[in-house]
Amino acid sequence: MKTFDIAIIGAGAIGSSIAFELAREKLSVVVFDRQLPGREASWAAAGMLSPAPHSPRDAVLVPLGRESLRLYPEFAAAIEESAGQSIGYEREGALELFSGPQAEKERDRRVSACQQLGIAAEAVSIDTARAWEPTIGPVACAAAWFPEEGRVKPRLLVEAIGRAAQNRGVQFRPHSPVTKLLLEKERCSGVVVRGEANGAGQVILAAGCFSSQIGSYPRSLEPYAPTEPVRGQMVALRPDHLRLQRVLRTESGYLVPRRDGQIVAGSTCERAGFDKRVTREGLGQILNTARKLVPGLSGAAIVETWSGLRPGTPDDLPILGPAGIGGLLIATGHYRNGILLAAITAKLVREWVTVGRTFFETEPFSPLRFARGKLQARHAL
Ligand SMILES: Cc1cc2nc3c(=O)[nH]c(=O)nc-3n(C[C@H](O)[C@H](O)[C@H](O)COP(=O)(O)OP(=O)(O)OC[C@H]3O[C@@H](n4cnc5c(N)ncnc54)[C@H](O)[C@@H]3O)c2cc1C
Repeated sequence: MKTFDIAIIGAGAIGSSIAFELAREKLSVVVFDRQLPGREASWAAAGMLSPAPHSPRDAVLVPLGRESLRLYPEFAAAIEESAGQSIGYEREGALELFSGPQAEKERDRRVSACQQLGIAAEAVSIDTARAWEPTIGPVACAAAWFPEEGRVKPRLLVEAIGRAAQNRGVQFRPHSPVTKLLLEKERCSGVVVRGEANGAGQVILAAGCFSSQIGSYPRSLEPYAPTEPVRGQMVALRPDHLRLQRVLRTESGYLVPRRDGQIVAGSTCERAGFDKRVTREGLGQILNTARKLVPGLSGAAIVETWSGLRPGTPDDLPILGPAGIGGLLIATGHYRNGILLAAITAKLVREWVTVGRTFFETEPFSPLRFARGKLQARHAL
């Protein structure tokens, strides 16, 4: 049986970033993916690096997002240097736009909620927003500015992390589905790939929305990693004359500009199982929002449509850390934020592997919280 220090299940942004980080520690690392690396959610993402919460229940995630954003310049530089290629990292900030009679009030509430969470956010007049981005349409009547937010090109990111990790000695095994974990006396000692056992001192589950499906006789991992797919559809537009510099977003969608002039518009949040088809309704909704935000996009050519499956979880929070089974760490369920959170996730996993604890509060993200929740609910009956 082949044996490695570390075996990672899944070569998305999360698994590959962890591999890159751990290879720095001179550990032998193998990454198994059931297809080509980086072709799932990470490939489909818009690439915004935004710690701003999507809903009040995301507040607990904000410190993790802020820390990851802080780490990004160094993370991006290390990947780019090791891979010898760009990941399209830019830090141009983002404008959030509000419309309707309550627009200014809503904007003020949002800015103050973000500031209380330590996020750099400020109210700017709609005239200022239009001076910065003259293509903003007439529907917007209030704006909030997030000066520290950045963006990357996710497809470049996953390609570059893979190359950077390989340059540090990581072995990638594409077309190698992990079917189960090896368990010996309640300890995980490796993975089984197409019937072949691969030993590992530490196994890391980073299989995105597929994590809940990885079986481990005699115990299933589903209670610790109850991920489920949340489909997001996307559209890439190429306008003729119009250019955007900053990310624009509203409650119902966003526009992310690329250096080559393309504008990526997103997205939907649908529970549609593992179905990755784009739909007429989904694309219609995205285009509607895009054209309301920037009416000049009405004439833009549609150059690509696609969708991806976000790794959702029951409480919308990631699942990070030990699962109470020796030799097993979980790093999954990053839902709408896995590109942002790749930097901090890799760092946390390195700390768990090398010193057995982390220097960041990770309790809210523990894989044990779901089992605990069920136990508490049972006691309450
Ligand atoms: C439309 C859309 C827009 C998004 N926009 C953003 C954004 O702007 N900013 C942001 O931060 N995040 C964004 N996200 C979220 C982000 O893409 C995800 O959170 C992140 O990519 C998750 O990374 P991952 O590596 O965990 O999962 P994935 O990228 O899905 O990778 C999981 C990997 O595991 C492999 N795998 C599965 N099962 C097995 C198995 N049995 N054996 C071996 N390998 C297996 C898969 O093949 C895959 O390569 C977006 C997502 C979508 C869909």
